[in-house]
Amino acid sequence: MKYAIISDIHSNLESLEEVLREIDERGAERVVCLGDIVGYNANPNECIELVRERNIACIMGNHDAAASSLESLDYFNYAARSALIWTNRQLRERNRRFLAGLPEQKMIDSDFLMVHGSPLDRDTYLLSHYEALGQFPYLEERGVNSCFFGHSHRPVLYSYDSEVVGEGLECHQLKKETYYLINPGSVGQPRDGDPRASFLLFDSDTFQIEVIRLDYDVNKTAKKVFAAGLDPILGERLYLGI
Ligand code: ZN
Repeated sequence: MKYAIISDIHSNLESLEEVLREIDERGAERVVCLGDIVGYNANPNECIELVRERNIACIMGNHDAAASSLESLDYFNYAARSALIWTNRQLRERNRRFLAGLPEQKMIDSDFLMVHGSPLDRDTYLLSHYEALGQFPYLEERGVNSCFFGHSHRPVLYSYDSEVVGEGLECHQLKKETYYLINPGSVGQPRDGDPRASFLLFDSDTFQIEVIRLDYDVNKTAKKVFAAGLDPILGERLYLGI
């Protein structure tokens, strides 16, 4: 099965549409999303509705949880928090219910596990190989070889023995006998210094992954952020990929 794995859309409709177009062109059979459909940018309803229309299997990110319930906002910085309050006001009731009902984790067939922050906790950032190492015993216990995670907005692959970023990750052959934690990067707010949208393809038969970066209309998204009265820093960071 050829999967497309996307994450951290964050209400960025232009990048989501561009990514879905590319996914269709590449013939992926199934699309899954690792959470944070909303937050930061200006098209929460449109992004949720597109995800639902496309039947994309999705789990709950911390922004999805906070935007739908307005609980635990203390953990967010000022710009993120004000965008969550704005998002909560914009959400159509059926979309709010959809976000609130998302599962925390999801196993896709027996091929891989989807989590948002880390296998042990939705809100924990995995930002180094060292931090990833503490998670592998849990995967081993559950017999899960491949786990995809989001939250940090940076494409990266961790295995027991290595960390791979950048060029090595464009196309990477996985080994069946080891354990992996893999981040596809962010569709709607990349943070690795590259402003292009990021996602990945995973072929569960050949065990290959490919990380794809795509240009989209950053100007259009940023202008919507400014026009909505969201913190301008949220529009400006899109140009820089930070
Ligand atoms: Zn996020």
